[in-house]
Amino acid sequence: MTQTQLFPSLDILAPTPEPRQHSAKLWLPKRVVFTPDALDQPFGQQMLERVTAQGLEVELLKSNRLTSVRGEDARDTYRRAKSTLAVVCAPPSALRLQPTPPSADWQMNLAEGCPAHCQYCYLAGSLTGPPVVKAFANLPQLLENTQAYEQSGRVTSFEVSCYTDVLGIEHLTGSLAECIRYFGQREGAHLRFVSKYDHVDSLLGLPHHGRTRARFSLNAEAAVRKLEGGTASVEARLQALRKLALPVEQGGGGYPVGVVLAPIMPLPGWQDEYRHLLDRLAATLDFPCDLTAECITHRFTPGSKEVLLQWYPNTSLDLEEATRAVKRNKFGGTKFVYQPTDMRTLKEFFYQEWQQRFPNAPILYWT
Ligand code: SF4
Repeated sequence: MTQTQLFPSLDILAPTPEPRQHSAKLWLPKRVVFTPDALDQPFGQQMLERVTAQGLEVELLKSNRLTSVRGEDARDTYRRAKSTLAVVCAPPSALRLQPTPPSADWQMNLAEGCPAHCQYCYLAGSLTGPPVVKAFANLPQLLENTQAYEQSGRVTSFEVSCYTDVLGIEHLTGSLAECIRYFGQREGAHLRFVSKYDHVDSLLGLPHHGRTRARFSLNAEAAVRKLEGGTASVEARLQALRKLALPVEQGGGGYPVGVVLAPIMPLPGWQDEYRHLLDRLAATLDFPCDLTAECITHRFTPGSKEVLLQWYPNTSLDLEEATRAVKRNKFGGTKFVYQPTDMRTLKEFFYQEWQQRFPNAPILYWT
């Protein structure tokens, strides 16, 4: 595979710069609104306390409908929405869980929308309307509801990161900690979350009982720098991962952990880039821990491309259909993925490099 095959215009990825070290900036939305229904919920009241403790002003809506988010154009709407937190009750449809293979059995969303600005964002095209962050005040009800989906005789897994970055909003919601405590009591169920943020101190000391797997999304340094606005640096994510994985006796969280290598892109010098990333990971996790990996290559749909180009009109992300293979799902939807030969090359590389460094840590899937 040559880089020109896949990236005809390669301005996005110059040679790897020096690794950055910064933490993610705490997200402090410009506008915070609560619906009347959300305020009726005890958990909504807890969120209200958290938000006001951050010094944020709160607008109490008269109805449960969120208004005045649209701006003058798509960019303006995006800007407004991304700096708005709406605390709402999840609708009854949220109680009908959807399967989420291959990452987990079911998705259970504690929020929808994310404060970060990734130019390949997975939410583009899957959530409708302006990308406001909506946090669910009826979380305890959503958690209780998961019991109906637990299957006897096997551990059922629930993923809470499908539609948000759970750590990116945790300081304002406390929702992830609530989920971790809840699943800590469920013998037949496990929780999984993934994040690009690094504020994990509030998760240390929670009674997770090994039933939450804490994962961090990682990518090559240059890709993170160019494409993942508002998130923590790779180094900060690695340190957060270390903190959560370290045994409790050593001051850590004692969590099972994981890395989600995503979206994998054959950028210039990709072998060296990703080897360097895996070397850094190995150096960070220099103690025995329960580690897994998930590998997700970059893909897009016609719908996600359209939305992403509205949100990030100047993006240098490769969204060229001509160089991709088409994958259709059973509902007739189309995805653009890498060509089969490129996919094989990438997969062989990652499996080999991973197994050399982490022989006891399974790769759960490649997609
Ligand atoms: S962290 Fe995930 S959900 Fe948030 S902007 Fe990035 S890709 Fe989208």
